[in-house]
Amino acid sequence: MSMKETELKIKILGDGCLRKKSNLVQKFTDERRQVLSRMARIMYESSGIGLAAPQVGINEMMIVVDAGSGLYKVINPKIVKQEGSQSMEEGCLSVPGICIKVKRAKKILVEGLDEFGSAVKIEAENLLACVFQHEIDHLKGKLIIDHASFLDKIKISSKLKELRKRARSQKLSESERKTCQLQL
Ligand code: ZN
Repeated sequence: MSMKETELKIKILGDGCLRKKSNLVQKFTDERRQVLSRMARIMYESSGIGLAAPQVGINEMMIVVDAGSGLYKVINPKIVKQEGSQSMEEGCLSVPGICIKVKRAKKILVEGLDEFGSAVKIEAENLLACVFQHEIDHLKGKLIIDHASFLDKIKISSKLKELRKRARSQKLSESERKTCQLQL
């Protein structure tokens, strides 16, 4: 897969890469560090607080997160402990215009690697825990709509059809981007 900057754009529901399981990263190259930096830039430019590599068309286990307490770039992230539960209204940069209440663990321990291949451990709770779980879902090909209740599914069905139809053109309005406060 090519990682040229010109090709790094947020992919929208309907694009196959969002549903693929991402591969473990085994080499820590300058190219991957550049991708992580570009991902962070795209996340900030989109007013997002998290972004996973499949969202820019790269099926590798890499995420960036900034929920207000600084930027994390994590490779091969894995949740090794979790406790409690919380529900937040989540939006997704790849599923614009849709907001779903998702139940997740309240406190988690994430293990992974930094961009140079060194082990990192991150304890996260509340919003930060929510963001990490959302991004790690992306690496498994899982999206917020998979957490939708039966009623949610009815409510969002026409919007989803419309999004899938427009996935090729990738055209989005500003208002669609900002339906939900949390964009991940
Ligand atoms: Zn997302």
